[in-house]
Formats: sequence, C-alpha cells, structure tokens
Amino acid sequence: MLVKSVKLVKCSFEKADFPPPLRGEVCFVGRSNVGKSSLLNAIFGRKMAYVSKTPGKTRTVNFYEINRQYYFVDLPGYGFSRVSKQERFHWKNLIENYFELRKHLVKLSILLVDSRREPSQYDIMFVDWVKALKIPVLAVLTKSDKISRENLLRRIENYGEALQLENGMILSCSSLKRQGIDKVVEKIAFFLQRA
Ligand code: GDP
Repeated sequence: MLVKSVKLVKCSFEKADFPPPLRGEVCFVGRSNVGKSSLLNAIFGRKMAYVSKTPGKTRTVNFYEINRQYYFVDLPGYGFSRVSKQERFHWKNLIENYFELRKHLVKLSILLVDSRREPSQYDIMFVDWVKALKIPVLAVLTKSDKISRENLLRRIENYGEALQLENGMILSCSSLKRQGIDKVVEKIAFFLQRA
C-alpha cells in the first residue's frame, strides 16, 4: 500500500469529537518520546506529525485520513512521569473511549516500544486489553539504530515472550535511518485489506 494522500482531519480532545468512520483504521500507541511521530512521518513520507522536544505534549487523538479511505490514528502517549493525576485520568478515559467506540473499525493496533527498554507493565496491560477486544496487535521496536543487531534480536525475543505475540507480529524500525519502515507499511496494508 502506497500512502498517496495524507490529511490531518481531526485532533480530538473528547469522544464527541471523533470523526465519522471510513473503511477502517489503524491506531498507534506508545510511551511519549518513543518515536511515534517520527515513525508516522516516515510512513507518510512527509512531515505531518509533530516531533516533540518535550516529552508528553500530545493530549489529543489525531486522525490522519489516508488515501481518502482509512484513518491512521495517533493516540496520546502514556507513561509520562511529570503530569498530574487529572491528566492521567484524561488520557485513560480518552483511550478507553476510543477503543470502546471504534473497536469494530480498528483493523490493527500498533504498540510502539523503545528497543532499548525492557517490556513494561503498561505494555503488557495494553496488549492484554486490546487482545480481549479481538483487535490484532503489532509491536514495533523503535530506534533500532541505537542498539546492536545482537541486542535487537534478543529484545525482539523478550517482547515476544512478555507480550505473547506470534512471529511476524513484532517488527523493529529506525525512522532516523529509514530501516524497517516498509515492513511496517506492508503489515498495515495486510490488515487493512484483509477485512
Ligand atoms: P513521540 O513523542 O513518540 O512522538 O516521539 P518523537 O517522534 O517526537 O521522537 C522523540 C525523540 O526520539 C526525538 O528526539 C526524535 O528525534 C528521536 N527519534 C525518533 N525516532 C528515532 C530513531 O529511529 N532513531 C533515533 N536515534 N532517534 C529517534
């Protein structure tokens, strides 16, 4: 699947603001600073998503319309340490509302994890929760340029075990070096076209 057109159609603060459905959607979730905006930009082939210098800036659900057919949905980052309880609550609420309202539209959920980090409780909880909604999960290890090939392979294995994901549902990428991006796009296309 080639990304021919991208349009940011909505940045929603609340569920009442989510746009009407298209043919399906893929959502992206991960800790803030994991490299989500950079990966989105690499997939889009242009700079659309805001790459932050300050972690934990995005608090909205951003809907990108792709080829006038699908949404790529940028969910707000989690695990930011310096935010208030109220903001955490807002985040949790927004994500839960998103999945509750759109679960039948979501063809693939992509969890981004930093390849230098161990699997976290958040990651495991998120994957279990999304699996329970019967939504396929792909884990993508970001910033693969930051570790050796050997450590990367070990990490892929770690995540596979911790998140109970089958072979092929864990990929790695470097947006900086433009490595692994095509594989992520291939996987997205597979799940969008399967429906
Ligand atoms: P987000 O908060 O998850 O959207 O993360 P960003 O895309 O804004 O990236 C956070 C930081 O990580 C920025 O300083 C990026 O330049 C850096 N970054 C993102 N992707 C990569 C990558 O593939 N390799 C390296 N080395 N740095 C990256």
